[in-house]
Amino acid sequence: MKAEPMTRNGGKIPGATLQRLPVYLYRLKAMRNQGVGRVSSRDLAAQLKIKPSQLRRDFHHFGGFSRPGQLYNVCHLIQRLEEILVLTEPVEYVIVGVGNLGQAIAAYSRFEADGFRLAGLFDINPKLIGLNFRGVEVKDLELLPALVKEREVGLGIITAPPEAAQGVADLMVSAGIKGIWNFAPVNLQVPESVALRDEFLSVGIMSLHYRVCEPGRLNDGEVA
Ligand code: ATP
Repeated sequence: MKAEPMTRNGGKIPGATLQRLPVYLYRLKAMRNQGVGRVSSRDLAAQLKIKPSQLRRDFHHFGGFSRPGQLYNVCHLIQRLEEILVLTEPVEYVIVGVGNLGQAIAAYSRFEADGFRLAGLFDINPKLIGLNFRGVEVKDLELLPALVKEREVGLGIITAPPEAAQGVADLMVSAGIKGIWNFAPVNLQVPESVALRDEFLSVGIMSLHYRVCEPGRLNDGEVA
């Protein structure tokens, strides 16, 4: 299993910083694609609409942008960010539940560009098994443990219905998956050693709708 992202001091990256690093990586890759070779913290912060001091504080964890006016090599910053985010080689993931949402995630080509490779699609519906999405065949869920072990897959996405999600999570965990992105609207129990991220889409749209209906509270950060 891969190492956890560490700072130059050997500590873990704070959660809030970790949320921002992929945004910096996106922006820097876009700059590289536009042929930009060097950038200052001020310019990058302006493009991201954040304070330069915030950017420098975040980069300080891994030794970039130590001086305000100085120009930094874009490719080098990308490389450091990819190292810190443990993205130096492709990361494989599987999807369980190949319904509308599972198929939409499987079709999302951006993940490939970000370094995440779809290793397997699993379902229990015989009508779906054997179908092909982006070159990956849907397999019977029973075959998940073998594939996870064979390819050392670290990440699993659950897009099965809520009543099936805990069983799927248990299977993923026993197969060796270390991180679960759960889209089923149910709270899952997983061992502490497994990272769990819930993405309850209905909660998202309900919260947004509520904020729209309560203009006085809009964007105060308490409602969402
Ligand atoms: P979506 O919710 O993505 O719109 P859907 O409405 O087609 O999809 P759901 O009932 O939510 O269907 O199920 C999503 C997928 O999960 C389906 O393809 C279904 O066959 C599959 N599924 C159901 N139970 C399990 C299970 N125990 N393990 C794996 N996959 C399952």
